[in-house]
Amino acid sequence: MTQGTETIEADVAVIGAGIIGLSVAMYLLAEGRKVLLIDRKGIGQETSAGNAGALAFSDILPLASPRILRQAPRWLIDPLGPLAIRPGYALQIAPWLMRFGLASRPAAYVASIEATTQLMRLAALEFHQMLVQANASHMLRQDGSLQVYEGEAEFQASLEGWKVRHQAGIEFEHVHGVRLRDLQPGLAGSITAATFVPQWATVSDPLDVCTALGRHLLNSGVVLRKDEVQRVLPNEGCVRIEVLQGVVVQAKQAVIATGAWSRQLASGLGNVIPLETERGYNTTLPPDAFNLKRQIIFGAHGFVATPLSSGIRIGGAVELGGLKLPPNFKRSSDMLTKASRLLTGLRTEGGRQWMGFRPSLPDSLPVIGPSLASKQVVYAFGHGHLGLTQSAATGKLVSELLMGKKPSISLSPYLADRFKLFN
Ligand SMILES: Cc1cc2nc3c(=O)[nH]c(=O)nc-3n(C[C@H](O)[C@H](O)[C@H](O)COP(=O)(O)OP(=O)(O)OC[C@H]3O[C@@H](n4cnc5c(N)ncnc54)[C@H](O)[C@@H]3O)c2cc1C
Repeated sequence: MTQGTETIEADVAVIGAGIIGLSVAMYLLAEGRKVLLIDRKGIGQETSAGNAGALAFSDILPLASPRILRQAPRWLIDPLGPLAIRPGYALQIAPWLMRFGLASRPAAYVASIEATTQLMRLAALEFHQMLVQANASHMLRQDGSLQVYEGEAEFQASLEGWKVRHQAGIEFEHVHGVRLRDLQPGLAGSITAATFVPQWATVSDPLDVCTALGRHLLNSGVVLRKDEVQRVLPNEGCVRIEVLQGVVVQAKQAVIATGAWSRQLASGLGNVIPLETERGYNTTLPPDAFNLKRQIIFGAHGFVATPLSSGIRIGGAVELGGLKLPPNFKRSSDMLTKASRLLTGLRTEGGRQWMGFRPSLPDSLPVIGPSLASKQVVYAFGHGHLGLTQSAATGKLVSELLMGKKPSISLSPYLADRFKLFN
């Protein structure tokens, strides 16, 4: 012990107790490891608390795509539309956008679909099991999703993407007329077609899932330390984790799962990772605001409506504005106004607004793999729009790495060093 510092010994430290860190801890616990969870806010208090609750296993088309490059200019014209860049952040985000553009080229896009498909297959196998372990399987709702289209042109434009999903073995049904109105009564007349995806699931509430995983972990001997990590460094075959107030955690192994805030910790380990945040907004209305049968996706408007135990959550959108600019809740209100046009009779009063920080890499794939400085520090962040969906798969892969087992799928598309050309 150095003078003035307290040293805590740990077997494996998981930094970040969002859905990714919690899932990693679940799989390490199952391997018999003694886990120390470190989070500055507690269990599931950031992005993982307020998302749309979708287990979007069929969502294999990366955001970085030729299609988005075509749509983006139109979206950017509307400052409250599905995609916006805060003027005060335009310069900082420019390099990330350049990489996003490169990742949207056809060959990169095809490789990204393949990598996402592999991860999603594992996710679909693992997520339910993880909930079972935490006695939380009742939180899973396997009722599918409905992606709706306003008019024939929007429906036709979606078919290219459905063809790719069909090739990946994903089941879906294009629906019209009575079948469509049966699946969701109360849709506006402008909605003429939809695609029903039975494999899509939701959770009853994403915060409840985090709470249930956290409860199970703490009841099983995992220790939670509420503290902010300043630096992570390799140290004589172990990992030195410096937290606030002169405390040092000395762990055999560590996982960095600090979501949108992971860039700084990774740079201390020699990895320059182009992690940015895609900020998203929503409003959670009282449960009786609308009789929503399942999650509805309004793709052209960039938002979804989800029935949760905590209410009807309406939101989405992407705002590139970094971690520090204040929220612009006009975005939440604007999506609500659009939703009330599309869901006849939606009651928009009494809602709670929220903003969250999606941790996003320009190629729409997460970072899962060892740090440059040490194999004993493993990264698990950057899941963008799909962190809940890919959480259990990530937990399994990270635990396999730390236990020296062969990973269930090849990790090469997700490794941090895929960005080394930009370093
Ligand atoms: C509007 C919106 C809707 C979404 N909908 C969906 C959806 O339907 N389905 C889906 O799969 N995904 C969805 N997502 C994405 C998903 O929410 C994220 O990918 C996921 O929550 C990321 O989880 P995480 O654990 O990496 O990050 P977080 O939940 O943000 O957790 C990171 C944790 O790290 C902690 N931390 C950070 N820095 C430090 C530090 N230095 N020291 C200690 N602790 C630290 C934070 O306190 C936090 O608890 C949505 C996101 C948004 C914004």
